[in-house]
Amino acid sequence: MKRIYLDNNATTQVDPKIMKKMIPFFTENFGNESSNTHSFGWEAREAVDIAREQIATEIGVNLTEIIFTSCATESINIALRGVVKDSLLSKPHIITLKTEHRAVLDTCAALEKNGTEITYLNVKKNGIADIDDIKNAIRENTILITVSHGNNEIGVIQPIKEIGDVCKKNDILFHVDGAQTLGKLFLNMEEFNIHLFSMSSHKLYGPKGIGALYIRKKDPRVNLAPITSGGGQEKGIRPGTLPVPLIVGFGEAVNLAYRNLSSESIRIKKLRDKLIFGLSQKIKKYKINGDMKNRLVGNLNLSFPNINDAGLIMRLTKIAISAGSACTSSTLKPSHVLKALGHTDELAYSSIRIGIGRFNTVEDIDTAIEIISKVVNELKIKGERHEFVN
Ligand code: PLP
Repeated sequence: MKRIYLDNNATTQVDPKIMKKMIPFFTENFGNESSNTHSFGWEAREAVDIAREQIATEIGVNLTEIIFTSCATESINIALRGVVKDSLLSKPHIITLKTEHRAVLDTCAALEKNGTEITYLNVKKNGIADIDDIKNAIRENTILITVSHGNNEIGVIQPIKEIGDVCKKNDILFHVDGAQTLGKLFLNMEEFNIHLFSMSSHKLYGPKGIGALYIRKKDPRVNLAPITSGGGQEKGIRPGTLPVPLIVGFGEAVNLAYRNLSSESIRIKKLRDKLIFGLSQKIKKYKINGDMKNRLVGNLNLSFPNINDAGLIMRLTKIAISAGSACTSSTLKPSHVLKALGHTDELAYSSIRIGIGRFNTVEDIDTAIEIISKVVNELKIKGERHEFVN
């Protein structure tokens, strides 16, 4: 039986069209883009410029405002640590959400150890940030608000424009973790008043090992103190030889995603709705975690009361989905995102995340409905009615 990949919030398959564009930059066009004395270098520089322009265009910024990194985690580190390092305050303050990705939470925790004050805000039961809570958390020394646009576990989309307005009114920098929304939603940094935006290629059918950071250049100009040193590439903010083939793939991935965004979103949403309907016909009791309206179309996060997801996941070997729990070394911890929604440990353990993507088919969804419902029902779900939490 064919394996079915339904974990597209974790990572995605490289699109063959993108792979094809990358290959020449591993083989005949392998130059270093910093080599300005020969055509190998010039070709590489041109390819990097094209990719930078492709990304900049889609998020409505100038190409000089994009620097390449290795992944969103690195972009987040450069942004958060760079803002704090550049600040003149002895105890700067950052506001974030308890449901952020570990890349943000762990960076904040590291900054906290060195004197930065961090406020970790609760979210509403549907996973969305409360704007009043954000306003009330602002202090004299608040320098930055950092929020993920789309949540990687429960797929909820945060009210970025409203948060951006609050930042603008209060003269605070706004960093957005866009790892889950680049290529999935139309984005405009100016309109949303975003100053720093972290991106990743492997979530949108591009290669792993490449990411980017948007750093606003004017109104206001954002200054970041570099956190690494080296050959001066990427304006000295992220030195190191640029991985040209990966950059080419990233640019193409962004370009392809935005060319097909509307049709692909409709197709994926239909698959997700089919999955929900199919499961609701076969499973008596479950909860949908996270708001259903403001949500990434491919994401579904479900809790099944009274079963343990480790048991569930282990029986779902033919479909690749993930537990709603973060696996830390050898111990399985309940998801901090589901805990922030008010779930008990037990309910958080009984949760799964399904990520539908570009290469999934109707047949994949039919098979997933069959397998998930069979396994869940075998694990003896108690209860009578469908239960939705939105
Ligand atoms: N932020 C979010 C919301 C994510 O989903 C991820 C990836 O899981 C990251 C950050 C980290 O991205 P990367 O794997 O590119 O470091």
